[in-house]
Amino acid sequence: MERYYEFIQQRKDQMYSSLKEIVEHESPSHEKELLDQLTDWISNQFEKLTGGKTRIIQNEHYANHVVGEIGTGDKQLLILAHFDTVWEKGTLEKIPFSIKDGIARGPGIFDMKAGLIQGLYALHALKELGTKLNKKIVCIFDGDEEIGNPSSQQLIENEAKKSEAVFVLEPAMSTEGSLKTSRKGVGIFTIKVTGVPAHSGIDPEKGVSAIEELADVIKYFQSLNDYEKGTTLNVGTVSGGTTSNVVAEEAFGELDLRVKTKEEFDRVIPLIKGVKAKTKGAKVVIEGGINRLPLERTKEVEDMFHTAKDLAEKHLGFELTEKETGGGSDGNLTAPFAPTLDGLGAVGDGAHANHEYVVLEEMPKRTALLAMLLETYGK
Ligand SMILES: [Zn+2]
Repeated sequence: MERYYEFIQQRKDQMYSSLKEIVEHESPSHEKELLDQLTDWISNQFEKLTGGKTRIIQNEHYANHVVGEIGTGDKQLLILAHFDTVWEKGTLEKIPFSIKDGIARGPGIFDMKAGLIQGLYALHALKELGTKLNKKIVCIFDGDEEIGNPSSQQLIENEAKKSEAVFVLEPAMSTEGSLKTSRKGVGIFTIKVTGVPAHSGIDPEKGVSAIEELADVIKYFQSLNDYEKGTTLNVGTVSGGTTSNVVAEEAFGELDLRVKTKEEFDRVIPLIKGVKAKTKGAKVVIEGGINRLPLERTKEVEDMFHTAKDLAEKHLGFELTEKETGGGSDGNLTAPFAPTLDGLGAVGDGAHANHEYVVLEEMPKRTALLAMLLETYGK
């Protein structure tokens, strides 16, 4: 098992230059042209490094996705990495790729381009060291994770159904490098309130303010927060009204719901959907629902974590820890169908934040860990 780490240590400069290349290829979730260029780059790198084959899933509006396959077998393992980032085009000029004191920076480097590169090099190591597996390895590189997988959800779920285990190369939890063995489920809702417009100076009593009604709805949603259960509701955007001297006819909001279990979704969603207007003449319409189910820490997930922990301790000499997170990922999509281990990607900090970075010397370790996991589960 030690040979993976040795091999990757010898190839680490090549791995870091691949990291530079992928980071310098900007890929905001809505820039189809940029995304598709990166799709082609990933597809080429995959074939070159792993000896596997790829196919490109074409999309009209969103990124094209890459599906890579290595080996054969009735059974399969699935690896997931998304290549879109939350950073808009041009961010690279403000935060260029850089390495200083063992810290690498650049837009999307932590979430999750470094993890994707680690995945490619883990598979490269398996190929070059001649590891024979009895299972097929399928990799999905999707380009719409940051916007909720509008075009890759089906693809990911279908492959998960065929898989024995899923490895997600999302960043680890902060600098400690913890794996993510529990992720909250996500619900997304829109709130639309309709009132009755009136002149605020002449006959305000004839009006019904949609904004006031929306404020009540927000207060109600806030009251459903249950931090002990891990259930959170956040109305993150509001808009409405026309000008200050008109009683607002319309108001809108967007609600984000996070829960730890499927049961909690079943309990809270009817409360959200059942909200009624308090004032006569006002109307509240709630649309939306579950975006991702939770990744629950089942017995199988726990077993996977312990396998990874043992491998890290025995062969890499470090202690692997686990954490739960409120953030969703591709792992939430696969968890209902196959045991999923998430957070196997880069070690660093600052996902979606200006200080985003990756600890470079952790990359060979994490790459070796993934290679060892694939050897263990692929036999
Ligand atoms: Zn991510």
